[in-house]
Amino acid sequence: MIPELDRKCSECGGSGASRDPEWADWSSRYEATRRLWKDRGYTDETAREQALAVAGPTPEGPEEIPCGVCDGRQRVPTEDGDRLLEFFHRHLWEPFVERIEQRLRAIEGTLDRAEDAAIRETTRDRF
Ligand SMILES: [Zn+2]
Repeated sequence: MIPELDRKCSECGGSGASRDPEWADWSSRYEATRRLWKDRGYTDETAREQALAVAGPTPEGPEEIPCGVCDGRQRVPTEDGDRLLEFFHRHLWEPFVERIEQRLRAIEGTLDRAEDAAIRETTRDRF
């Protein structure tokens, strides 16, 4: 029986998105000002106009950004999931990276030898 390896992200409730902090600040200023004017008996339209004047221009960029905890994946690993990820990292990812680095070193060595041969070829007549 495989244990639960991940669970719904509690930070974003599983949506994968969170509100951009600049948008959250802007909305707070807007809503607080709108409510203040509304509570003083002004019309909805006046309250909205005043709120926009106080809150200023809306922030650039989207209102929603990827959740900072699950990075938009909607789920996060459990402790068992983390242990499995460590296992894959150690036995799959690290050997893969080592092999890539070996290949790169071998290619660099080939290039060095080819470069040496080319230099020797062009300078042979001078000595
Ligand atoms: Zn999340």
